[in-house]
Amino acid sequence: MDHVMRDKLHRPLRDLRISVTDRCNFRCRYCMPEEIFGPDYSFLPSDKILSFDEIERLAEIFVSLGVKKLRITGGEPLLRRDLAKLIERLGQIDGVEDIALTTNGSLLKRHAADLATAGLSRVSVSLDSLNEERFLAMNGNRGKVKNVLEGIEKAAEVGMGVKVNMVVQKGKNDQDIIPMARFFKERNHTLRFIEYMDVGNSNGWRLDDVISKKEILDQIHQFSPIEPMKPNYRGEVATRYRYIDSDQEIGIISSVTDSFCSTCTRARISAEGKLYTCLFATDGTDLRELLRSGKSNEAIANSIENVWNHRDDRYSDERTSMTPIRTNAKVEMSHIGG
Ligand code: SAM
Ligand code: SF4
Ligand code: SF4
Repeated sequence: MDHVMRDKLHRPLRDLRISVTDRCNFRCRYCMPEEIFGPDYSFLPSDKILSFDEIERLAEIFVSLGVKKLRITGGEPLLRRDLAKLIERLGQIDGVEDIALTTNGSLLKRHAADLATAGLSRVSVSLDSLNEERFLAMNGNRGKVKNVLEGIEKAAEVGMGVKVNMVVQKGKNDQDIIPMARFFKERNHTLRFIEYMDVGNSNGWRLDDVISKKEILDQIHQFSPIEPMKPNYRGEVATRYRYIDSDQEIGIISSVTDSFCSTCTRARISAEGKLYTCLFATDGTDLRELLRSGKSNEAIANSIENVWNHRDDRYSDERTSMTPIRTNAKVEMSHIGG
């Protein structure tokens, strides 16, 4: 069944991001700062997290409602045991056209071959600096640049499409824009710069800390001239460019200074099974309760359709002031995975 449901702004539902854990082995300051996500922080107990059976069932229901693409995220998704088995199961759902994974890359070298065998075709690896000191300062003193780079190379070696995501924060890693561009241009991996966002409630975001898409593009252009490319599809999150002297692509995800809510076809499920219709949502719909109380697939599909039909989120289009527009109650990025 190809059921096209639309939200209040006529946007269909096409992409589903599934968070498989709220835990992470990094403590990136813009996402899970150590002061808040410290030793006393209560992560979800395992019985509160969706099982693989429940994730698969929800994915099937979402596909029946129009979803074509799945992205697995976290927390750090590679901390979830047997993740490759889940990928394999999701890949067998009729109607799924694409499965991707977002990871911090620290465990990727170890898992890349299994993930590829399970059918994972694409991976986005987050890396904010090649400089060890700044890498550690940004991620709360965890991991090593070398491990992430080895994960990237291994993923490419086993045949996965690899993209590298760099969150750019003024005064923290803006000096790394060109070194990162140069490094990944030479190695033929697509690098995507992400504007620092006011997700969650913990990162103390200020507009002043954002390096804009325009500033990033100016720097790249000086390093090596670029030209715009057409989007791969409507609603693509990154704006694409190509270096004029090579075919290598780069991208910018400009949620702050050039938002793209009008084409946002994404829904997110947190690790505990809540459905969020926006990255900046304050509240989710408890799908785990529906799954565990014996509701039929049809009843759950109706609930999801009802949520989607009422969706009018356009947070980034509305965010124009110097401060975040919702101050306290947003869902944390580590719960829904970006
Ligand atoms: N742990 C995995 C990782 O880091 O790739 C997956 C989850 S992480 C929440 C998903 C993406 O969100 C990462 O690329 C991360 O850099 C990005 N992210 C987290 N907090 C952000 C923020 N405040 N602004 C922009 N991007 C952010
Ligand atoms: Fe962990 Fe990813 Fe958040 Fe960093 S961005 S703390 S790696 S979930
Ligand atoms: Fe989509 Fe919300 Fe981001 Fe806008 S702010 S693009 S509606 S997730």
